[in-house]
Amino acid sequence: MPLSTLFSAPNLDDDQIIQVVSGLRPCRRGGLRLESQQLGNKTIIHNYGHGGSGITLSLGTAIAAADLVTDKKPVAILGAGVIGLTTARELAKRGCQVTIYAKDSGHDTVSAIAGALWLPVGIDIDHPQIGTEKLNHLLNLSHNALQNLDPNRYGIEPITVYEPAYAQSNDHYFDNGTIPTPTPIDRLPFPGPPRTGRSFDSLFIHTPRYLDAILDDLNQLGVQIINQEFTHLDQLEALDEPTLINCLALGSLTLFNDTAMYPARGILVHLKAQDLGYAIHDGFKFIFPRDTALILGGCFDENVWDELPDEQIAKEIIAHHRRFFGLS
Ligand SMILES: Cc1cc2nc3c(=O)[nH]c(=O)nc-3n(C[C@H](O)[C@H](O)[C@H](O)COP(=O)(O)OP(=O)(O)OC[C@H]3O[C@@H](n4cnc5c(N)ncnc54)[C@H](O)[C@@H]3O)c2cc1C
Repeated sequence: MPLSTLFSAPNLDDDQIIQVVSGLRPCRRGGLRLESQQLGNKTIIHNYGHGGSGITLSLGTAIAAADLVTDKKPVAILGAGVIGLTTARELAKRGCQVTIYAKDSGHDTVSAIAGALWLPVGIDIDHPQIGTEKLNHLLNLSHNALQNLDPNRYGIEPITVYEPAYAQSNDHYFDNGTIPTPTPIDRLPFPGPPRTGRSFDSLFIHTPRYLDAILDDLNQLGVQIINQEFTHLDQLEALDEPTLINCLALGSLTLFNDTAMYPARGILVHLKAQDLGYAIHDGFKFIFPRDTALILGGCFDENVWDELPDEQIAKEIIAHHRRFFGLS
């Protein structure tokens, strides 16, 4: 490939760094939980365990959780990350009276940290409980719903993703009908060591804009967000609403004693925004061009509960991406 057809390398100099952020993906052995349970006089609908795919699946699981609500009585949503907010929005749009209860909400949750590329990663695919077919259905529901949103307002855009061959472990991205078959590439179009790979087209979600738009929708739909931490199931019994939707993510480990839940820490380095026009997906080492920052990932540290951004890991992330582009 002639050098003139290569993209130029992004600017990864130290003076571009804005901040390092860190968050815990809410992973669940056996796959996400989407089902109803009776607890005393309350119906609890569980919607949690989205791992590294919460933004991707948010609208699909919101629809599926709302479908489990069988009457028009008031509903309480527990949790105000992307899953709680999108579920509340879906139910409020259907005419339910919805109130959200959460310790933190929107931009103060893990959801605000997500990149976010539309890709089913960091989640158990072969669900003993849900099944691959159901997961693929949820992915399609989500994809269709995302494509029906105003892309500018919700921050959704098509993007070409490049993956080096050595990072390709998952072909299930392409067997659910939402991402077209990838194109093999003899040499990835970047400076640095020549590498084979592939490219595919997906969606990129500018998470801050996505959350802003959903919060704005909720405001217009009259949904209130009440600040409350739950430490015991008795607090749920005390809520007025007969139906509760559990979107507490890792909070389900302690509150519902769901020991299948575990965290997978991700660390991201934000650089000043650069309009790359593509994303790189090198396993959990990725580059996403968010409109407010160039996002360098990352890691997937299973069972690490420490949320503090680790400066040494951040340095390794930057060094990795510089090597990728032959910058050091
Ligand atoms: C570094 C990183 C990169 C990611 N990249 C992507 C990506 O590219 N694409 C993608 O689709 N996904 C990505 N994700 C995954 C995505 O962020 C998560 O799957 C998603 O945020 C989960 O949303 P949630 O609402 O279930 O959880 P959270 O956002 O964690 O929200 C949980 C809510 O429950 C509340 N809560 C918890 N416990 C209690 C309690 N006891 N009492 C009261 N409230 C409580 C919290 O305050 C919060 O409101 C990424 C995640 C990380 C960390």
